[in-house]
Amino acid sequence: MSENNRINKWNWDNTYLKVDENLFRILNPFPVNEPRLVLYNQELANELDLNDLTQDQIILELSGNQVPEHTTPLAQAYAGHQFGHFNILGDGRAILLGEHVTKDNDRFDIQLKGSGRTYFSRNGDGRATLYAMLREYLISEAMHGLKIPTTRSLAVIATGDEVYREKVSEGGVLTRIAKSHIRVGTFQYAAKYLKKEDLQNYTEYVIDRHYPELLNEDNLALALLKKVQDQQIDLIVNWMRVGFIHGVMNTDNVSIAGETIDYGPCAFMNAYHPETVFSSIDRDGRYAYGNQPAITQWNMARFASALLPIIHEVEEEAVKLCETIIYQFPEDYESKWLKMMCDKLGILEHQIEDKSLVDELLSWMQKYKSDYTNTFLNISKSLDELEGIYLNEEFQAWKLKWNQRISNFEIESVLSLMNRNNPSFIPRNHLVEEALLNGAEKNDFKLFNELLLVLKNPYQSNSTFNHFQVVPADFDLGYQTFCGT
Ligand code: AMP
Ligand code: MG
Repeated sequence: MSENNRINKWNWDNTYLKVDENLFRILNPFPVNEPRLVLYNQELANELDLNDLTQDQIILELSGNQVPEHTTPLAQAYAGHQFGHFNILGDGRAILLGEHVTKDNDRFDIQLKGSGRTYFSRNGDGRATLYAMLREYLISEAMHGLKIPTTRSLAVIATGDEVYREKVSEGGVLTRIAKSHIRVGTFQYAAKYLKKEDLQNYTEYVIDRHYPELLNEDNLALALLKKVQDQQIDLIVNWMRVGFIHGVMNTDNVSIAGETIDYGPCAFMNAYHPETVFSSIDRDGRYAYGNQPAITQWNMARFASALLPIIHEVEEEAVKLCETIIYQFPEDYESKWLKMMCDKLGILEHQIEDKSLVDELLSWMQKYKSDYTNTFLNISKSLDELEGIYLNEEFQAWKLKWNQRISNFEIESVLSLMNRNNPSFIPRNHLVEEALLNGAEKNDFKLFNELLLVLKNPYQSNSTFNHFQVVPADFDLGYQTFCGT
């Protein structure tokens, strides 16, 4: 049978079983009591060439109750700096079912999250609440709609088991799809437990898997550091573009493949303020909106530390080589950030001087607590379409300057650039919470599915859902997100 006639089901090819044996433990997911399929992403299944999975297979295999044929599931080992403190972690409540390869030869990790205890569970129960898995499904799919690199969500299964948190809730298992689940924290673990030669071999494995174009570089580890840093800068610039706050940017939640991963206490900013933070466990605002770039640089320095032994035999030399990359971070970030902000303003050929126009707008937003997303939508509107704070003198004065700045460009191109970079819709916190509670507690997915639908094309205005753009006054003041562990 030729490759393209192959039927559309699992096509396992588990390369991770061949990496250093310290980096994983072979283990099957634990069965759940009463699996019930609550969400299935048929579109994603089609993209993955999985159209022919039967309903039985979906429920049994994606709940962890039956291991698919021809694969050997495992739990991955990793470490991580959590809020600045180094810990040994690992998949404590997730199992990698295996690596599935599509007809186009794209490789994806298929992971069950909330699948029971593992060797790495420490004191945890290995489970997740249905609410938290619905949250990850909704936000990760929204990020995909926003055109931001992210892990994807294939399914959520309700388990019929009780999970004990602040209250008793039903459990859930999410099927997470990722280019890989290799993290900065995986390298931190490898640096601690592997011999230098094995760390080098693992690095080669990762480069071959994600960045084969680097295989000819003289210094592989250094090339990987630079590449991952560039990917992270691109990712964080995208987060800043849409007001996304990850909430738990620990090094174990930083993907080497450059995808947004681990949707715990994340949330979207409404009123603009760089210190915005929603996560209940982030008391010092370490992972606040405006701190995300600096924290990413810090995380890249942790990545560099893990790679030191294979960057140069002499440690001081290795440090110097890493510093040339890490110290470049602020400048690289700033220039990509400015380009992104200018895109949001429709400035087709941006210059360094445009920064003052951007800064002035951000100061205005901060002063008047204006909505980050809606402000950008209001910039291109005419005076008679504006209302509320957008009629204020300072905003009008800023708009004059902006009008002048774009006057030399073709207006269609300006508007099209703005449309591609300014979403009409983001997952508004109050709607997300209502949708999740309806789904998890009442099995009512109406709002959830409406949100999914709108967030599939967030750059398209849609008057039926205008009310999704309005935030109830002061909702965010008391809004807190939880880790969902
Ligand atoms: P996270 O904050 O979700 O990135 O998780 C940090 C670490 O805690 C990871 O090693 C998880 O596998 C582990 N973990 C989180 N929740 C649980 C749980 N309920 N049971 C076991 N391990 C968990
Ligand atoms: Mg994590």
